[in-house]
Amino acid sequence: MVFGPVPSRRLGRSLGVNHIPHKVCSYSCSYCQIGKAIEIQIQRQPFFSTEFIILQIKKRLNKLLAQEYPNYITFVPDGEPTLDINLGLLIKKIKQFGFPVAIITNGSLLHFNSVKDDLMGADYISIKIDSVNPTVWRQINRPHKGLNLEQILRSIMEFSKDYTGTLVTETMLIKGKNDNVSAFLQLADFIKDINPQKAYIAIPTRPPAFSNTFPADEQSVTQAYNAFSRIGLSAELLIGYEGNAFTSTGSFREDLLSITSVHPLRAGAVNELMTRSDGSAEMLKMLICKKLIKQISYNGEEYYVRRFTGV
Ligand code: SF4
Repeated sequence: MVFGPVPSRRLGRSLGVNHIPHKVCSYSCSYCQIGKAIEIQIQRQPFFSTEFIILQIKKRLNKLLAQEYPNYITFVPDGEPTLDINLGLLIKKIKQFGFPVAIITNGSLLHFNSVKDDLMGADYISIKIDSVNPTVWRQINRPHKGLNLEQILRSIMEFSKDYTGTLVTETMLIKGKNDNVSAFLQLADFIKDINPQKAYIAIPTRPPAFSNTFPADEQSVTQAYNAFSRIGLSAELLIGYEGNAFTSTGSFREDLLSITSVHPLRAGAVNELMTRSDGSAEMLKMLICKKLIKQISYNGEEYYVRRFTGV
């Protein structure tokens, strides 16, 4: 439920809050690093008790040394954070700890006034905009059938005019889908009116939900960067590895299971976590045998990911 602080390419050291049950989302993106959606929904609802989440954050913060304090407490669940009807209340309570709050959202529910109001309380918001073309959007983001791209884009635009915190966008480039010049120009044209502090361009760097999904190549990424920059956007690439500096609670099992539930870990990061906790190769083997963790290869790297289905 609470993990890290983990190194974040955008936020420095981020204490993650995972407040949505596994894979409950309004999208089922082809590149999702958490696997295929279990529940695609757009109805907001309460999931976990607010008091329980706040208590977990408090406990985690109490265990950290001052130098380990996070730069942000970040809602980065393995689903869509705005589906939680208590999000606004949670943000208010978390801010009492004295840390800025960040939210990574797909932005698909911003047409609900309650979502807009909740997000206004956050200090940093990253909104996903992978395509402005409905056909490509459906192929990449695989949305709930009640969602409409035009409405989403309009709501994002309206929100950006009212929001006073740090707003950034993130665009994931997928080979054969949104990795062409015409897509880049359309995206750049839309995103420039949002005026984000940064327009991040990303590629999947972890194993995707659908094995026929591949990252755009270097040439396309460069073309996207040029198209974004030429129109005046402050573009930045998110294509590198974030490093192995994960903070350990001392319990290898607890850290590995909580981090991998939202964030597949490279073998090197798992080894480092092991040396900074009570972990061992035997313990890792045991977690694999018990079908809690799975080892997979992707792009020449070994990863450990959380298993939820026992298959
Ligand atoms: S990438 Fe994000 S928005 Fe897309 S399915 Fe996964 S959790 Fe949902």
